[in-house]
Amino acid sequence: MAEARHSKVLIIGSGPAGYTAAVYAASAMANPILVQGIQPGGQLTITTEVENWPGDVHVQGPDLMIRMEEHARAMGAEVVSDYISSLDLSQRPFTATADSGTIFTADAVILATGAQAKWLGLPSEEKFKGFGVSACATCDGFFYRGKEVVVIGGGNTAVEEALFLTNFATKVTLIHRRDSLRAEKIMQDRLFKHPKIEMLWNHSVEEILGDENPPGVTAVRARNVETGAVTDIPCAGVFVAIGHAPASELVKDQLELHNGGYVVVQPGSTHTSIPGVFAAGDLTDHIYRQAVTSAGMGCMAALDAERYLAEQE
Ligand code: FAD
Ligand code: NAP
Repeated sequence: MAEARHSKVLIIGSGPAGYTAAVYAASAMANPILVQGIQPGGQLTITTEVENWPGDVHVQGPDLMIRMEEHARAMGAEVVSDYISSLDLSQRPFTATADSGTIFTADAVILATGAQAKWLGLPSEEKFKGFGVSACATCDGFFYRGKEVVVIGGGNTAVEEALFLTNFATKVTLIHRRDSLRAEKIMQDRLFKHPKIEMLWNHSVEEILGDENPPGVTAVRARNVETGAVTDIPCAGVFVAIGHAPASELVKDQLELHNGGYVVVQPGSTHTSIPGVFAAGDLTDHIYRQAVTSAGMGCMAALDAERYLAEQE
């Protein structure tokens, strides 16, 4: 029989927003349950150096997230390794069903499911995922020691991935669809100075070319968006770094969403369109998308949930 668990506050997601919400909810004696999902620690676990977390000039993303988890546990939050596959917000208590079969019910829910990597949507990208195509240089960069790689994108992630890959690859080509990057200036300066990195401006990737047996990437076919000319860039690895989409699948038919799937919250708060359901972090933020802003919203969500529960009593 499926296990049933009830808590005053259920937190879904274990990134900076989820763990901060857990710290605050636990200190308010709400005994929250936090369900981690398939990426315990969230997006920062796939990066290396974080240089903008206040109080740490340098900290490794995975280390920071382990510390946040330990902090949440130490305050009394129960951290559960599971994945919520469905969520019913139509009646109270709210009901979340997990992959393990456990059914979590809660008087208040804090959604902190963050965001996931976006893909180009090419059939050849799908075909070579795991065989040369990746969205995580930290996870897969090591395989490209002594080889040439391509990174696609123009934001902070793309620049960071390109710089990181220089630790292994002999050459990194960064392909961007426009003629300027949206990455921070300091990151751009590092990128442009790096002898192993070459920019290919105004190009969109049309196809990823490779071998069938054994499967492996051999080149990227890119088209100049101004002239239409096609170029094949030889490479063994392709890192897609074109941003992230909010993980709002669980609530897409239940809560008000905007800007391509971000959960709408009332300005200056974490209240969603359903009382008792709160959203924090990248799931609701299409502007800042930082660890510290996510953590800040996690704090707000726990305080909003605490006030909501007090009003119910
Ligand atoms: P996320 O970190 O996205 O975590 C979401 C969590 O939700 C995960 O634990 C996941 O397992 C869980 N989840 C999702 N769906 C379910 C479900 N159905 N059931 C249960 N759990 C679920 N920001 C900075 O400030 N500084 C940086 O240096 C920096 N570097 C970055 C480098 C990279 C490569 C990337 C991708 C991002 C970087 N960011 C950085 C951005 C930062 O990581 C995010 O803003 C932040 O992690 C968002 O936190 P979050 O808690 O909202 O969600
Ligand atoms: P982003 O800032 O949204 O940038 C995505 C990039 O990919 C853009 O340059 C975009 O091009 C390009 N792109 C989008 N769709 C594309 C497509 N279909 N084909 C080709 N190119 C495409 O995403 P991000 O770089 O992942 O950053 C996300 C957030 O995390 C940001 O807020 C960022 O500041 C934060 N972050 C911070 C750090 C840090 O502080 N060190 C590190 C990583 C991420 P256009 O420019 O033409 O739109």
